[in-house]
Amino acid sequence: MFDQFRVKSDTPIKLADFDANGKHYFEGEKSVAKNAVESLNERLEALQELMYAEGKRKLLVVLQGMDTSGKDSTIRYVFEGVNPQGVKVASFKVPTPIEMAHDYLWRVHQKTPGSGEITIFNRSHYEDVLVVRVHEFVPKEVWSKRYEHIQNFERMLTDEGTTILKFFLHVDKDEQKERLLERRDTPHKQWKFSTGDLKERALWSKYHEAYEDALNKTSTTCAPWYVIPANQKWYRNLVISTIMVETLESFDMKYPEAEEGVENIQFD
Ligand code: AMP
Ligand code: MG
Repeated sequence: MFDQFRVKSDTPIKLADFDANGKHYFEGEKSVAKNAVESLNERLEALQELMYAEGKRKLLVVLQGMDTSGKDSTIRYVFEGVNPQGVKVASFKVPTPIEMAHDYLWRVHQKTPGSGEITIFNRSHYEDVLVVRVHEFVPKEVWSKRYEHIQNFERMLTDEGTTILKFFLHVDKDEQKERLLERRDTPHKQWKFSTGDLKERALWSKYHEAYEDALNKTSTTCAPWYVIPANQKWYRNLVISTIMVETLESFDMKYPEAEEGVENIQFD
């Protein structure tokens, strides 16, 4: 359904060609979309329970996007109501000294989902070709090799039974300004405001260049990237929920076989 947002491995994209305004893609009322998300959410809840019971599939969801693009709120709304037992969130921050002492995939691999689990990466190994590239934390000859490592790493995960979905939450610069102002001016959101975000905002076009490169070099058939129009939160949720539900439905999962004659077992 949302194939138009998938980055095809053979056709490089430009972010400027993607409209961050979801409402331009959606003809119905916002309230219709919100109702749809609610029913998708119920389906997601049931599918996740089935996935956990079956205990075979592994699903990795990667969320990336500029500051304020809505990674935290996507996790809160899209996964609302799912049983935390089978869903994990891994948030990747500035690497700790121990993480820095290892290769950049070390901390990431440890957090990938096990059988029956969904893991959501709030930022990911992609930071190592984004913030690291923009700030030249390592020289070009180091970061430029990472696209191939990442492709190979993700291929290995999918070969070994993990399904990977990668979402780039696309907000435009004006929308980021609005969201930063809201954080600055709303007491319970001020904890999220960081002057560091303003320094990153000044590097907007460098980040977009790095994002375009990452999306074009690492969107593969087995681990595709989706560019999600994310200026409107309801539209962002609608697209991500739909892709999640469609993916889980395509798994064609089954509850494990019950013990034979279970319904006749007597006990007091
Ligand atoms: P937040 O997601 O708002 O909690 O911020 C986490 C911060 O950690 C962001 O500024 C990221 O750019 C930063 N970060 C995540 N991974 C790395 C990395 N590998 N190297 C440097 N900074 C990182
Ligand atoms: Mg932040």
